[in-house]
Amino acid sequence: MTPGKIVIRGPNWVGDAVLSIPAMKAVRERFPVAEITLLVRPWVAGLFRSAPFVDSVWTRPKPGVTAWIETAREMRRRGFDLALLLPNSFESAWTAFAGGVPARVGYATDTRRWLLRPPVPLPEGRPHQADYYLHLVEEAFGEARRPDIRIEASPDEVAAARRLLSTHRVDADRGLLVLSPGAAFGSAKRWFGDRFAEVADRLAEERNLHVVIVGSAPERALAESIQAALAGPATILCGETDLETLLGVLSLASLVVTNDSGPMHVAAALGVPTVAVFGPTDADVTGPVGPRTRVVRRHVACSPCLLRECPIDHRCMDRVGVDAVVRAARQLAAPPAGGDA
Ligand code: SF4
Repeated sequence: MTPGKIVIRGPNWVGDAVLSIPAMKAVRERFPVAEITLLVRPWVAGLFRSAPFVDSVWTRPKPGVTAWIETAREMRRRGFDLALLLPNSFESAWTAFAGGVPARVGYATDTRRWLLRPPVPLPEGRPHQADYYLHLVEEAFGEARRPDIRIEASPDEVAAARRLLSTHRVDADRGLLVLSPGAAFGSAKRWFGDRFAEVADRLAEERNLHVVIVGSAPERALAESIQAALAGPATILCGETDLETLLGVLSLASLVVTNDSGPMHVAAALGVPTVAVFGPTDADVTGPVGPRTRVVRRHVACSPCLLRECPIDHRCMDRVGVDAVVRAARQLAAPPAGGDA
């Protein structure tokens, strides 16, 4: 059967959503004339509003059981032929089942095997998350050319970024060094603010870049501490960017220095030179994917622990020095590059 209407249930977090882009593109390539609807949480939707590989974005609020039923009803009304379920949740499979979608493709996890048509066995080993999503598509529809992860900011997104920067009297064309020092997951993923500041001072002076700090509103205090530690000027945009504007800002960057975070994945997929500091998480599984990325990490016995807060002395981050991050950034200035610094 060739499906006419497909719903893709997207991942719930920005980083995972970026890493699912090759899988989404693969669905588009296999079904070029199908109408593809992407169902995602509202805070992820901005990534895909101008994406050419989906026809529309449908957002549903955080579900309780009532919302499950509403989603299933709406699926039935829309009459999808195929659901691709990227999250492994019971809820995503149940809503497609109750929504009358005849083909429901997902990994056979989370007590939901009986809801899937077909259930797809989990891949062996610990593949990178981007390969994990793509494997699901390949198992269901056969192997084909592997799409890249690349995305582009739309003209509207770039214009929104330019407007925001101009309100801070920043010339977007002078070259931006964007710092993303936060990490919503928890403090364990955060490299130290004073080291971000030292890296920024060195690189900004060396390459004549203006420092911009992005993040959420609660991360503004962290950004202000970095700003105070800097010898040169910096502009703080924390809490001022929706996802579309963040895409625009990152697309205008000459270099991004970041923790393991959603903005890291967005910058990498935009093709912006991106240096990422890793500690408690596994870069082999969730590292940035893109043509110009570098991961800086130091191997310690307890990593990856995947904890939100470090229960010991944060040695995984403490052992990452400023020189290593600066060196990685310099290496990115001379592409091609890849691998660990
Ligand atoms: S337990 Fe180890 S890997 Fe985890 S945050 Fe602490 S130092 Fe890093």
